Amino acid sequence: MKENTIYLTKEFEEKYTYTGNDLGSIYSKNSTAFRVYAPTAESVVLNLYKDGSKGTPFEKIEMKQAENGTYTTVVSGDLNKVYYTYEVKVNGKTKEAVDPYAKAAGVNGLRGMVVDLKATNPEGFEQEVRPEKVNPEDAVLYELHIRDFSIDESSGMKNKGKYTAFIEENTVNGDKLKTGIEHMKELGITHVHLLPSFDYGSVDESKLEVPQYNWGYDPVNYNVPEGSYSTDPFHGEVRIKEFKQMVQALHKNGIRVVMDVVYNHVFDAEEFCYQKIVPDYFFRKDKDKFADGSACGNETASNHLMVRKYMIDSLCYWAKEYHIDGFRFDLMAIHDIITMNEIRKALNEIDENIIIYGEGWAAEAPLLPEEECALKKYTYQMPGIAAFSDDLRDAVKGSVFEELEKGFVSGEPDLEELIQFGVTGATGHSSLYRKDVVYKQEIPEPWAASPSQCVNYSSCHDNYTLWDKLVVSNQDKTKEEIIAMNKLAAAILFTSQGIPFIHAGEEILRSKPDESSEYGYQENSFKSNDKVNSIKWNTKKENIDMFQYYQGLIAFRKATESLRLKSKEEVEEAIEFFPIQPGVVSYVINTKKETLFIAYNANEKDITLQLPEGEFEVYVNKKQSGTKPLSKEKGTIQVEGVSAIVLKKRD
Ligand code: CA
Repeated sequence: MKENTIYLTKEFEEKYTYTGNDLGSIYSKNSTAFRVYAPTAESVVLNLYKDGSKGTPFEKIEMKQAENGTYTTVVSGDLNKVYYTYEVKVNGKTKEAVDPYAKAAGVNGLRGMVVDLKATNPEGFEQEVRPEKVNPEDAVLYELHIRDFSIDESSGMKNKGKYTAFIEENTVNGDKLKTGIEHMKELGITHVHLLPSFDYGSVDESKLEVPQYNWGYDPVNYNVPEGSYSTDPFHGEVRIKEFKQMVQALHKNGIRVVMDVVYNHVFDAEEFCYQKIVPDYFFRKDKDKFADGSACGNETASNHLMVRKYMIDSLCYWAKEYHIDGFRFDLMAIHDIITMNEIRKALNEIDENIIIYGEGWAAEAPLLPEEECALKKYTYQMPGIAAFSDDLRDAVKGSVFEELEKGFVSGEPDLEELIQFGVTGATGHSSLYRKDVVYKQEIPEPWAASPSQCVNYSSCHDNYTLWDKLVVSNQDKTKEEIIAMNKLAAAILFTSQGIPFIHAGEEILRSKPDESSEYGYQENSFKSNDKVNSIKWNTKKENIDMFQYYQGLIAFRKATESLRLKSKEEVEEAIEFFPIQPGVVSYVINTKKETLFIAYNANEKDITLQLPEGEFEVYVNKKQSGTKPLSKEKGTIQVEGVSAIVLKKRD
């Protein structure tokens, strides 16, 4: 599959690739410079407005044709908080568009706004330092929707659904248990990963008194924060300041911030600014039809040089201006491998510690040769970029596409090798690819060059929550039995090599109950109401045991270097899997520093396993986990039904 467009010709690229760093509006107190990329335009007029959505322009300025297909103008005077659009004439038709590089916008992102960015900085923002450096394999990612975080009554927060909920300190629920940032600190996560928080289109910012909800995978303005999370979406500078306050508060508490970025498609292709300014440049098209690898109506064209530049410029802007510490790419395989590697290079120049990971798949095949797509199987070709391991996700609890399918923790047979593959952080292990063994499940080829390229998870915002999936697929089981499965899933996650990732609230059995759904839980809550989506902080008390189990696993992982191996070679050398028994995976990790013995028993019955030579201490069992030894063991060890056990050899 390949596009046929003049935009990919050498002639076009040579003539119309602009490499400067001054696209958009560059503000200073005395004047503002505008530059827009519009190589096919016959004319471009700059419209200046007093208001973000109403009224007619108070000034119209004809822009001049400049280098490499750009148009420019400089307007004197202090233009801070002046709204603007471009009126672009192409093929005889005139359309009004927001600046693709707009850094601020009016309500619903209909007009851009010139902004004095310095004036939006909260006190101390320019001096703030990012939290301590975290290597990818040392990270613990926590995936959170800004509204879900605070909207429930039990959050104990005042600024419900807003960026500013994050600046509230020492929040608690009705039981006086910690909520919000304090809860995350207590849990021990290193990065909060925010669902889309750039300006998206599915929530009407002018009607915030009406409860509305969306995950936000429908981009409108890539370089502007979403307005509905701000206290005032009508004034462009407010959301910028509040977004920065949120980042600052998280940083102050030692938590790094990852943004979920959705460069792969836009809310409405025909209405998207770049489509009006340079028709059909931003998207891949198959003859007259938008290609649709996103299954959302369009796919962007990262292989077009100015789209690639746009992505890189946008990411660098968020990293520099908002101090963002990482990016999660939605449907990353719609982008090409070259672009992803260029992104890594550009972000390295800002901070090598910026974490990058993404979904190594598309919804449908993109209009790009397969071998050029940033697919999971090509992750090893993108150093410094990780992909989600759907291999481990589905092996642990059953496929996300089959509601009733069980997984390893719920007793599904023949998944032991897939769990082993997950344990290696998708780097593989020679014992998994033996020619003399007929495997019952196909073992994927190793796709990560090192564990730091593999994000392990068992649930995220998509599909059922972990708890709901386990309940739906194990309807004959008691709550106690399902809790054991959940704990085993968590133990596998946090003892596997790679980068652990959890869906916010997983640690307090987050659930999305919805009576209108077939099994009583919402499987796709992208536009469900708050009742379905919100984190119910008042469930913390009844699930405090699970919370402490996650907390203990995170603490143990952080204290145990051999769970965070850095290279494929180390994994190969240090890990030794013991022969598989049905429902049992057991192995040792042997490093210069320590020896661990780890076993996962998915059977309902207890099993007895032989420990290696020496004296061991238990840190994780069916009930507890943490950094304090629970008991001393030697010789053989009993592993309870549906549980994990982790032991460390005594020095
Ligand atoms: Ca919006």
